Amino acid sequence: MSKNAKFFLPGPVYVRDEIKEAMKGPTIGHRSKDFSVLYEKIVKGIAEILHTDGRIYLSSSTATGLMEAAVRNVIQKSSLHLICGSFGQLWYTIAKSCGKDAVPLEVDWGKAIKPEAVRSALAEGNYDTVCITHNETSTGVMNPLKEISEVVKEFEDVALIVDAVSSMAGTEILVDEWGLDVCLASVQKAWALPPGFSIASISERAFERSKNAENKGFYFDFEMFEKYHLRSQTISTASTPHMYALSKQIDDMLAAGMESRYEKIIQMAERVREWARENFGLFADEEYLSPTVTCVKNSKNIDVTSLLNKLNDKGYVMGNGYGKLKGETFRIAHMGDLNIDDIEGLLRTIDETISEME
Ligand SMILES: *Cc1c(COP(=O)(O)O)cnc(C)c1O
Repeated sequence: MSKNAKFFLPGPVYVRDEIKEAMKGPTIGHRSKDFSVLYEKIVKGIAEILHTDGRIYLSSSTATGLMEAAVRNVIQKSSLHLICGSFGQLWYTIAKSCGKDAVPLEVDWGKAIKPEAVRSALAEGNYDTVCITHNETSTGVMNPLKEISEVVKEFEDVALIVDAVSSMAGTEILVDEWGLDVCLASVQKAWALPPGFSIASISERAFERSKNAENKGFYFDFEMFEKYHLRSQTISTASTPHMYALSKQIDDMLAAGMESRYEKIIQMAERVREWARENFGLFADEEYLSPTVTCVKNSKNIDVTSLLNKLNDKGYVMGNGYGKLKGETFRIAHMGDLNIDDIEGLLRTIDETISEME
């Protein structure tokens, strides 16, 4: 693969040079004043982007770690899992592995979870928590989170925990208004940083539940997070290169305005969808298309692996279908710091490569 390959994987995503440069900041101790200043700045920026006055925790793990944290701290006994693809299934698997009474509500992949289905399931069962994947990266579906959050609010003391890994910083999320108890993401998706770091917002209810949670472990205990958060520190040694990068990215995002970032992402999405409709078709329900990733249906039955290899040789990296959709679909990310010219370049190169394959 060429050294300057253009990256259109739905994670890890393309990282611009300025971000890599920012990561070279000085090594600082995680109990130093400089660290706390950096920490406070990042937390404040993320809270602004997520429209929350609540807590923001930083984790030197990927989001899967925070998913396990949310499961252990927030689910009391029984959780309802809204599943429309591989990542919804991951939540369910994590909850099961932590000994929770996890129950799936699954729809056909490519479809979104409907608020009415959530209402019926909550009315019938006895759940204390709902787990949802906001943007299902494996199918290119974005679930109607706002509408689902309104349904969850109809039920007393049901927490809503949200995997927003591939939507946060790619589309607007109103954490407080929608009442999201945990909203978590890795930084290697729409935040457009290298992988290895993740962030979450934590509501008062989520934190209170943690106090009574049993067997929640040590590394991902919200009470431990809080203890250090109050000192503007992390529980253990943090990945300060990621924090420098995040600080730089937040500065640039807020300077340009989140609205313009979201708009740019939609423009790229529309271009990719238009191309996909003309050439292959979309895997996801038209009504719930993801702004950040398009899952293209391999209706022409091309050899996807061969296409990806040929694109690699030309310096373009895009994603195969995920899990059971491998080969049946392929995925193009249009999030982070990519722009419309990058997308045009990719689509041209795909067209050219496919005609060479015929
Ligand atoms: C990428 C992804 C994950 C997993 O994130 P890691 O950073 O690899 O832990 C979880 N959920 C969704 C929706 C994703 O896109």
